[in-house]
Amino acid sequence: MTILRSRTRLRSPLPPVACAVAMAAIFAVDTLTDYAIAAAVFYTAVILAATPLLSGRAVIVLAAGCVALTLLSFFMTRGGSYEVGVINTGISIFAIAVTAYLGSRMMAAEAAAREAQDRLSRIARVTSVGALMAAIAHEINQPLAAIAASGGAGIRWLGQSPPNLERARRTLERIVDDAERASAVVGRLRSLARGEAPRREPFDLGAAVGEIIALSRDEIERAGIRLDLSIDEALPPVLADRVQIQQVVRNLVLNAVEAMAGTAAARTLAVAVACRPPQGVTLCVADTGPGLSAVAPEHLFAAFWTTKAEGLGLGLAISRTLVEANGGQIAAEAGSGGGALFRVTLPVAGGAS
Ligand code: ADP
Repeated sequence: MTILRSRTRLRSPLPPVACAVAMAAIFAVDTLTDYAIAAAVFYTAVILAATPLLSGRAVIVLAAGCVALTLLSFFMTRGGSYEVGVINTGISIFAIAVTAYLGSRMMAAEAAAREAQDRLSRIARVTSVGALMAAIAHEINQPLAAIAASGGAGIRWLGQSPPNLERARRTLERIVDDAERASAVVGRLRSLARGEAPRREPFDLGAAVGEIIALSRDEIERAGIRLDLSIDEALPPVLADRVQIQQVVRNLVLNAVEAMAGTAAARTLAVAVACRPPQGVTLCVADTGPGLSAVAPEHLFAAFWTTKAEGLGLGLAISRTLVEANGGQIAAEAGSGGGALFRVTLPVAGGAS
């Protein structure tokens, strides 16, 4: 930035020439007229005009030159009252000094503002890269953990005597599924960060939700949660990016499981997919956890808002971005079972409900 500015200064010869001409003219008028005419105050105009093109030190040098010329004119002037000349010269020198001081302060303030602006845009860049990294880490953490767990289980099945090859084969299939999902999720997040539109195609939301529930069955069972799954028959296909919507379902299910972790009461996860004309197809994920906190509605979908010690506060922010990018809506409310209820509505393919 500084380099660019100084190059611009060197490349434009007109202002220094114009300044020199103006100073020579002021010097001539100041010398030729008598003491009563304080032509030297016009040096302030030269300083003001030149200040934006000069560094702080150059402004001081220019002001010193103007003061020297003012004094020289004073000694060379022959006509008029000497006392008036002293006063006018003093006023001119004072005006030149004040103008140079204010000009250099103005330039320093402008430089500070420019630097602050540069810093802000650097911070904005770093923050968006940081947010993308955090989002990717958040979204692939779960498939990676699942891959590690399946890998461990596979080793155990193979280590049995005789090895349980059928079980080992199933864990390997799960590893492949999770790895493919992680790779698809990263790909979609990267295209989202590049501002690309989602790959919207008609698909069966019920089947897509069913796949995620199957993937999450271990966590649901381990947490002692009863699953209440209801998928309407003959659902019209929705128009959205299947991978992105599955990501949203996964986030909502995991949040519900985590919300119920500390509940002593019966734990139930209710997942329902139904057609709700004219809005579209609706997915509801309800739990019997503690429900949304009083301040949650304001922050729930904001990035980095979390009430969990290990939370990142990105799951719902990413979910909202994905749902809205696919022309849908996501909302949260109090569930009838006392917990939270998240509702996602997606448009039907072809516009028919
Ligand atoms: P994280 O799970 O990392 O905290 P999220 O964006 O997924 O990030 O969630 C943000 C916050 O929303 C959570 O910390 C929690 O306070 C609240 N929340 C999300 N889902 C539920 C739920 N099912 N029940 C109660 N609170 C929830």
